[in-house]
Amino acid sequence: AADKIDTIVSLSKRRGFVYPCSEIYGGQRAAWDYGPLGVELKENIKRQWWRYMVTSRDDVVGIDSSVILASEVWVASGHVATFTDPLTECTSCHKRFRADHLEEAYEAKHGRLPAAGLSDVNCPNCGVKGQFTEPKQFSGLLSTHLGPTQDSGSVAYLRPETAQGIFTNFAQVQQTSRRKPPFGIAQMGKSFRNEITPGNFIFRTREFEQMEMEFFVKPGEDEKWHEYWMEQRWNWYTGLGLREENMRWYEHPAEKLSHYSKRTADIEYRFRFGGGEWGELEGVANRTDYDLSSHSKASGQDLSYFDQEAGERWTPYVIEPAAGVGRTMLAFMLDAYTEDEAPNAKGKMEKRVVMRLDPRLSPVKVAVLPLSRNPQLSPKAKGLADTLRKHWNIEFDDAGAIGRRYRRQDEIGTPFCVTVDFDTLDDDAVTVRERDTMKQERVSLDQIESYLAARLIG
Ligand code: ATP
Repeated sequence: AADKIDTIVSLSKRRGFVYPCSEIYGGQRAAWDYGPLGVELKENIKRQWWRYMVTSRDDVVGIDSSVILASEVWVASGHVATFTDPLTECTSCHKRFRADHLEEAYEAKHGRLPAAGLSDVNCPNCGVKGQFTEPKQFSGLLSTHLGPTQDSGSVAYLRPETAQGIFTNFAQVQQTSRRKPPFGIAQMGKSFRNEITPGNFIFRTREFEQMEMEFFVKPGEDEKWHEYWMEQRWNWYTGLGLREENMRWYEHPAEKLSHYSKRTADIEYRFRFGGGEWGELEGVANRTDYDLSSHSKASGQDLSYFDQEAGERWTPYVIEPAAGVGRTMLAFMLDAYTEDEAPNAKGKMEKRVVMRLDPRLSPVKVAVLPLSRNPQLSPKAKGLADTLRKHWNIEFDDAGAIGRRYRRQDEIGTPFCVTVDFDTLDDDAVTVRERDTMKQERVSLDQIESYLAARLIG
């Protein structure tokens, strides 16, 4: 339900995952800052993506290109001409919306597009039906000026996708890394879009991070590779614990395809926003040879590939899985959030919030907790925390009742709590408590690193 999002938003703020941006000045609408736990979760997601897509494979390499590219790039890519959104305004409350988003929300709710277009749609802000202006095209590119003057010659765009930095470097990467198609180039980083209706927490923001990979293949082999990457991407999410019942494929109908695409299929997640059940998590597109051909033509540099075996020259087709870091993080948090019951100190059952994150994603891997704040227990536990910190992100906490400290760790998804108690001083062993089952096990201190290492892989 929509209130689960609200729960995640407030948990995120309370525990330091995500804060509203510039809040001391009243906040910047629909912009968010990642706190100490959020940055760990986000970096873990990116690390897992990079491993899966790049370093665990022989046929994909990475790059990190500039955010601001030559303006010509965005002309050749088609973004200056076609990266526009249809903007409409409700004449009753004067709030602006993307016309296509209004129609999509209607479709998500009613299972079909509004028959009479926007005149069937209620304003999401004031509820009045059908009072929208004729949609006008509005550029999605954010621009700035470089240099001392602000004339039209100094205009520069902040990239709306990381992909173009890959296309412009295609020939260099191909030659220096000595790869032949089929091979891919991956990149993660910030992108910027002048979204008219940002919102739904970190789902849609104007500044966001993407994880994209362009896979270059021989024309004719593109459809097969498209299927391959669709399967790989699905498996990445499910492999990290996202539940299949909350995922589905959405195939873009031909009339809604982007200007460069032959086929696009999105992985959607059941975000359950107020306005609709499903939202795009990632798009897997067949971009054909559109980008390399456009850049060849516009730059005068030949970006085709000479296939020595076949003795022929061709421009590679490109399969692109493109994901958003914020959306992925939100999906993992929503999916992992559960409430169950656990006995409190007096044995009474109480509500327990557990973030059942895959340990590879958990921001804190192990919490080290002395049973109570005590001159003997605390230093011993601190010493253990320092030892474990060499391998993992560790939290040390000796404030308050042990039960409450367990709850705090459950809520942020910490897979293991290690408790140092008075017996530890005699037997040199600690109690390890596992998050999901709450099972406790006694482990000797000389075994604790290998015990945890066996359970915290990746
Ligand atoms: P939407 O239809 O939701 O606007 P899109 O189809 O324009 O998304 P793509 O161009 O396919 O998105 O971008 C690839 C991925 O980048 C998206 O699946 C999403 O995860 C992420 N993304 C795109 N725009 C935003 C945004 N404004 N905020 C956060 N993430 C975004």
